[in-house]
Amino acid sequence: MHIVKHTFEEYLQVVKTFHGSEAPGVVIGGFMVDLAIRHIPDGILYNAICETRSCLPDAIQLLTPCTIGNGWLKVMPLGRFALALYDKYTNEGVRVFVDTQKLEAWPEIKAWLFKLKTSSEQSPESIAREIAQAGENILSIQRIHVRPEIGKKISKGQIGVCPRCGEAYPINDGEVCLACQESPYTG
Ligand SMILES: [Zn+2]
Repeated sequence: MHIVKHTFEEYLQVVKTFHGSEAPGVVIGGFMVDLAIRHIPDGILYNAICETRSCLPDAIQLLTPCTIGNGWLKVMPLGRFALALYDKYTNEGVRVFVDTQKLEAWPEIKAWLFKLKTSSEQSPESIAREIAQAGENILSIQRIHVRPEIGKKISKGQIGVCPRCGEAYPINDGEVCLACQESPYTG
């Protein structure tokens, strides 16, 4: 049982170091990325779309060259536990998702996905055991074609100095930078 270039045990360790815990979503995400990579041609340059902000982006960043920082991973908060990998130039690719119809045999994974238990009621060990047993049997895959505008790099346009804070910002954001329009900080 391999997760891209790692054994399952190695992958659990990598997840723990990067994510802080062996979160079920990142562990399942490992199988999802692995399945997707095996269904795109070898050696192509690909981008990723992640349909949720929770957990799954970390699996993609750990196992592919696609990160939020380099722009090859786009997180679209659509609320579905799914990801897509697609050819940068043709926009052709695959989408992998947790298939609710395949979850009946896996009560712990089902309870996690549907939040049927509070986190204190969940046993991380039994979920991890089920995830390891289930592997890709809870997943489905489909061919997709990504809308061309999704993959395009959006230029920030011209950069200026904010008259209020004195920091560099894209002047298309307004008279002052976005932080000076609505700061996340108090005081
Ligand atoms: Zn400012």
